[in-house]
Amino acid sequence: MSTDLAGFEPTEAFARQMDERDPLARFRDRFHLPEGTIYLLGNSLGLLSRDAERAIGQVVDEWRRLAIRGWIEAESPWFHLAERVGAVAAPLVGARPEEVVATGTTTVNIHALVSTLYRPEGGRTKILADELNFPTDLYALKGQLALRGRDPDTHLVLARSRDGRTLEERDIIELMTDEIALVHLPSVVYRSAQLLDMETLARAARERGIPIGFDCSHSVGLMPHRLDEWEADYAVWCGYKYLNSGPGGSAFLYLNRRHFDREPLLAGWFGYVKDRQFDMLLDFEHAPCAGGWQISSPTILGLAPLVGSLEIIREAGIDAIREKSRTITSYIVALADELLGPELRVGSPRDPERRGGHVALETDHAGRIHEALAGRGVIVDLRPPGLIRLCPAPLYSSYEDVWRALHAMAEILASL
Ligand SMILES: *Cc1c(COP(=O)(O)O)cnc(C)c1O
Repeated sequence: MSTDLAGFEPTEAFARQMDERDPLARFRDRFHLPEGTIYLLGNSLGLLSRDAERAIGQVVDEWRRLAIRGWIEAESPWFHLAERVGAVAAPLVGARPEEVVATGTTTVNIHALVSTLYRPEGGRTKILADELNFPTDLYALKGQLALRGRDPDTHLVLARSRDGRTLEERDIIELMTDEIALVHLPSVVYRSAQLLDMETLARAARERGIPIGFDCSHSVGLMPHRLDEWEADYAVWCGYKYLNSGPGGSAFLYLNRRHFDREPLLAGWFGYVKDRQFDMLLDFEHAPCAGGWQISSPTILGLAPLVGSLEIIREAGIDAIREKSRTITSYIVALADELLGPELRVGSPRDPERRGGHVALETDHAGRIHEALAGRGVIVDLRPPGLIRLCPAPLYSSYEDVWRALHAMAEILASL
């Protein structure tokens, strides 16, 4: 589907028309929008939905009434909740239900999966990532290298950006040499919102016999993925961005089923074969599914919101979510070109097919603009030194929100 901004005008009336035509507009009421604010930060912390609130309330109530019996007798037994929520999320990434589990946090899940899939052998000892990667991912990769006795300074190879914003797939592929034992990349570059061509990257890695994993924190819940079809080896993503799981809520991991017989080296008892976990034997035997890579007791209160928030995404449909995201971010780009001028420039890819869910604006006055926006109740993200990111979450942001935010920016610029 094409991105439809037909008849674009920088007027409030046009914004209202877009909202009237928006098939997802009806989901806005399912969320708690912070009063008196325009919230354009769903890529950092998604909002609380009424559905998630209800699901949390239910777990609290079950804890109150059932206490320990909740593990088995809760409406959705806690003992199986991580696998169940993983199975519900699996279609969002194009995976089989048993290849996804809701567990841990993103960084811990990187450690858990890389500990299994990074297997230095002979001359293949290095990990390939990129210099625009989210720092925690690189910290985890360096830690994993050090744990295997490799010097992170020489064994973490970083693909360089030519323009400081984006990566070229061919530059990354060129670095997939026979020294590389693992590739770890983002789906969407968190600063510029560039969407990488995961299919091409996964194919290139596979052709060279290198396992590849993606951090999809900035894309799951925003767009469809086809991890199985692309034959990705692993993926991780957090729950609190586009999946609206709440602060520090449970994250997810995907492990392609061809790796189920590998060993989870960050082993823990919740990865044990499910129906024998409570035999409490001294030798670890992991469940032959993504659940085998769990470490500890699932954080039931961190999983509960997902029961509600994933239901909204299922109802809305991930294709419709992506379509709105493309259109509304294109709307930001068009308004920025029209209203903001050279002091606040679009720093994200202009082609919506190459863009994730936010738009980065570059400026020398990022701090002042961010502060002035906050004073007017417009909540956006500041990435020092020179970046402001606006993220319209397709399920609850409106075109009018975007119009108001961009007009506020134009006024602030005029008064600088
Ligand atoms: C948000 C995000 C994380 C967050 O990591 P946590 O361990 O959940 O704090 C990691 N990586 C990327 C790419 C992210 O966007």
